[in-house]
Amino acid sequence: MTEKQKIQLSNSSFTLALSLLIPLLGLFVFGAFLDPQHLYIVAIGLIAILLYLYPQNQHLSHKEAEAALTIQDLYERINLLESEIGHERQTIDSFRKKIVDYSQMKGLTERLSLCLTMEDTSRTLSTEVNNLFGNPDTTIILYLFHSHTGELGISSSHKGQMRVNLKAKKGDAFDQWIVKTMQPLLIEDVKSDYRFDMEKIIVEDSRTIRSLIGIPLMVGDKALGILRVDSPQENYFNTEELRFLRTIGDLGAVAIENAQLYERVEQLAIKDSLTGLYLRRYLLDRLPEEVSREMYHKKSLAFIMIDLDFFKQYNDKFGHVAGDIVLRTIGLLLKNLFGDPGTLVCRYGGEEFAVLLPECSKAKAIELAEQVRKKIQEQTILLRREQTHITVSIGVAAFPKDAQIKEELIHQADQALYKAKQEGRNRVCSA
Ligand code: GH3
Ligand code: MG
Ligand code: MG
Repeated sequence: MTEKQKIQLSNSSFTLALSLLIPLLGLFVFGAFLDPQHLYIVAIGLIAILLYLYPQNQHLSHKEAEAALTIQDLYERINLLESEIGHERQTIDSFRKKIVDYSQMKGLTERLSLCLTMEDTSRTLSTEVNNLFGNPDTTIILYLFHSHTGELGISSSHKGQMRVNLKAKKGDAFDQWIVKTMQPLLIEDVKSDYRFDMEKIIVEDSRTIRSLIGIPLMVGDKALGILRVDSPQENYFNTEELRFLRTIGDLGAVAIENAQLYERVEQLAIKDSLTGLYLRRYLLDRLPEEVSREMYHKKSLAFIMIDLDFFKQYNDKFGHVAGDIVLRTIGLLLKNLFGDPGTLVCRYGGEEFAVLLPECSKAKAIELAEQVRKKIQEQTILLRREQTHITVSIGVAAFPKDAQIKEELIHQADQALYKAKQEGRNRVCSA
């Protein structure tokens, strides 16, 4: 009932009481001074008052019923508004979640689009999935089908942020189910899932699996592999998480296909597209030829391996594009330093370089390596007006002093490089 209605109702009650009180008071005064024989006049007065009061009472009851209806109506409207508010709140919450989801997806798309190699792509995918399900107990496995044999094999496996080595290299019963059906899989609790008989499933790895989600990675009709996350806790995943994994999987599958294409093209080329240096494959192809020539001429052949120090941190701090600029700068520097004909400078791997120096003694190679180390240390790399620096660790080995065959030469240089890292980085070590 509104305030106005309340005032109206109390006003009419007051008028009624007043209209009753005045005649009653008159009758009382009149009755007090009248002869008892004439009391019928008082009775008639009373009847008249009652006749007057009856319709007034009816009117009041009617007003009261109207007020009760208004109150009921108002309560209904309050209920309706409350449920509308609840609904709006849910919509706002779901919008908020969608915004978070979209910004995560946007970030993932950007990061994946920067990955060129399979290694980078699978690491980025695992890291993203790990960030989503952020629990140190969950295991994330990316399987890929081998391009020639078609067999399923692990491309990367992480537990929390750590890489893990799993025994079931070709997947377990759950992965086989996904391969067979090419459908997403959600197991809330392996113990109560009728599709799998846990008694019969051989778990090769010692870790406990109670719940999991897994999806096939597809580009169009082409199956590339499987992305799977499992947890030792039951009911750790739900349909919402599976939906999210599918979205990540769709983006990841495209990135994987791109990386596979990139690697195939890279294999066809002899020079690295980023630095313009020879590729490792080319160096390995040339090495036997160089070794036999030096053997024939009884000359020494030196091999230098260079690895950027803490390059992952550099990438994390300044971004992958900045990292590429560093690789290009180092590549250019090496090309300038080792410009002699016959010297072969190559990009050996991601942030590793190798130099093959024909007719070069081990001592000379160590001297050159030290010059390289110093030059790189002194090199300023400008990034967004910020001066940055990077250092390298170098391993040197020479033929025939340290090795007789090419594999041994590479191994010795690699071991020396490992030693340089162990001893604190930014140094040259030799076999
Ligand atoms: P260490 O001193 O032990 O060598 O540490 P590190 O961080 O250099 O070594 P790690 O092997 O952990 O990391 C190598 C990094 O090199 C990780 C990878 O992202 C980066 N990397 C490899 N290839 C490329 C590339 O083509 N571009 C960029 N920007 N980074 C690359
Ligand atoms: Mg390295
Ligand atoms: Mg390194």
